[in-house]
Amino acid sequence: MLAAPGIRVNGDPVWLGLRVLEDHDEIQAGPGERLFFSAERLAEIVPCPGGPRPVHCPRCHQLIEPGQLAVQCPGCQTWHHQTAQLPCWSYDARCALCPQPTALDAGLTWTPDQAHA
Ligand SMILES: [Zn+2]
Ligand SMILES: [Zn+2]
Repeated sequence: MLAAPGIRVNGDPVWLGLRVLEDHDEIQAGPGERLFFSAERLAEIVPCPGGPRPVHCPRCHQLIEPGQLAVQCPGCQTWHHQTAQLPCWSYDARCALCPQPTALDAGLTWTPDQAHA
């Protein structure tokens, strides 16, 4: 990120006007103006867009067909089936490959309020 003079990240002035933002950094653009940077995304059931290579589900090890309903893990970006026959994403409480919770209504696991409570 390129920062103008006076911008602070996590309360520190930004030296040389350049800083690589880390997850959960707090950006103060001015008095009373606070932005938060988070890499988190919500898990969503969407038709798998497919890709240049076949996509395999880490839970059942079967191919995920383009257009088949699936969830892309917000944590590790891995696609899992999420159909009536193959509820691979919600099969377990966590992603097959990373600690990301699979509850679709869990919301984000981090909010600015928690970080500064
Ligand atoms: Zn699967
Ligand atoms: Zn994952």
